[in-house]
Amino acid sequence: MSDMNLAQWQYRQAQLTLPTQAFIDGNYRDAVDGATFDCINPANGQLLAKVAACDAADAELAVSAARAAFNDRRWAGQSPKERKLVLQRFAELMRLHRVELALLESLDMGKPISDAMGYDAPAAANCIAWNGEAIDKLYDEVAPVEEGALALVTREPLGVVAAIVPWNFPLVMACWKLGPALATGNSVILKPSEKSPLTALRIAGIAKEAGIPDGVFNVLPGFGHTVGEALAMHMDVDCITFTGSTKVGKHLVQCSGKSNLKRAFMECGGKSPNIILADAPDLDAAAKSAAGAIFYNQGEVCTAASRLLVQNSIKSDFIERLLAHAREWVSADPQDPATRIGAMVDGIQMEQVLRYIEIGKQEGAKLLLGGQRTREESGGFYIAPTIFDEVTPQMRIFREEIFGPVLAITGFDTLEEAIALGNDTDYGLAAAIWTADLNKAIKGSRALRAGTVFVNNWDGGDMTMPFGGFKQSGNGRDKSLHALEKYTELKSTWIQLES
Ligand code: NAD
Repeated sequence: MSDMNLAQWQYRQAQLTLPTQAFIDGNYRDAVDGATFDCINPANGQLLAKVAACDAADAELAVSAARAAFNDRRWAGQSPKERKLVLQRFAELMRLHRVELALLESLDMGKPISDAMGYDAPAAANCIAWNGEAIDKLYDEVAPVEEGALALVTREPLGVVAAIVPWNFPLVMACWKLGPALATGNSVILKPSEKSPLTALRIAGIAKEAGIPDGVFNVLPGFGHTVGEALAMHMDVDCITFTGSTKVGKHLVQCSGKSNLKRAFMECGGKSPNIILADAPDLDAAAKSAAGAIFYNQGEVCTAASRLLVQNSIKSDFIERLLAHAREWVSADPQDPATRIGAMVDGIQMEQVLRYIEIGKQEGAKLLLGGQRTREESGGFYIAPTIFDEVTPQMRIFREEIFGPVLAITGFDTLEEAIALGNDTDYGLAAAIWTADLNKAIKGSRALRAGTVFVNNWDGGDMTMPFGGFKQSGNGRDKSLHALEKYTELKSTWIQLES
């Protein structure tokens, strides 16, 4: 953590040069048609920068640079040991630029600077380093075949990978794609969200400084329906790897089918249940964790524990504890290092969350905390941490991803009922169960249909664990060695030996 105070952060902000151009074939450049879009600071609603708005023509340039780099093997042809060294240098430079990256991230999407410094910037660098470290320790296979042959099962890079990422953890989500895709020798075109393009643009220059060859890593800022769509439909892109909403994820799978059947990996939304049983080992720890699990990052977290399922016998006591912890999450200026909850990414997202709060009220849920916009005088887009009780499975706030600081509480009597409620969703990203009973923990974690199940915690995990969803939360996995599989093709080579 940094020990800078608000004034020092503001001073660093004033010194910042904001990256605004696309990065293609090793050079920063404007969009082909010169178009730009406004990048707004959600903390005060003011213009931060005008950023290149790329379109199909820019996608064309990036794809042909990426393809040329892949074909002449300037990156894929380097040994794993060499690629490892470059990726380690890349990670090291990201660490050196940690303050700058954290500041860009916080300014761009409204997250507290202490989160960006404490998590986003170091986690992104660690992801690149981890993937770099892995690649000269992975072996291919020799198949168990007859004596007259040697059968090899090897992995080869896919070619040109387009990575389309969201705005909630812009740098970390980008690196979860970049790390394994670059490590395995692919060329990458990164399309950050139009709501948070700055850190993606900045790390392109850092990657070049680290020794990533020109054309191997390109960044195209711009809108989904323009440059994103052009990449998804492109006949010379081999893979589209995406993190974002389920709606867009489904569309991109269709784009793959309508174009060249490019590999399509989707990491999408969630509506994760956090189940508190009466025998949880430490109810206060569970209540504190439940507050953080919905209010961290303004609730703009794919794995946000947005549904709290509490056993009826302890429900009123648990809610008291929860409210005490929830009141510590006070919306404030993201640049202040004491701030725990910052601004929503933009006015559109804020309005969407406020609409869901109104729906919750109209559906008859009981509002216990928050429920309104706050800090309006700042010009920024803040929502007070909000908690609803008496939420039923029929209500939209139980079923739909809100992607904001809004918690829905539902009571239950038995473990079986809790599991049924937990699984009563189209999503399957994460779930948690709090209990001191090992049998209930294992029974519950096996029965919950989610890519990650936390027992007596929320959000445990590191680079060693795969991350992704069941059901409509997506396919494929980010992180861990399993992520490397997404960016490679399997090749079988059967060598007939002379008898
Ligand atoms: P989004 O789907 O609106 O946008 C994600 C990205 O897709 C952006 O870069 C956007 O420009 C692009 N895009 C939009 N339309 C497109 C199109 N037609 N063609 C190509 N690209 C297009 O999502 P968002 O609002 O940026 O992010 C929030 C969502 O991301 C939430 O649903 C959240 O749960 C999800 N998310 C999932 C994970 C995970 O790992 N499963 C992690 C973080 C966020």
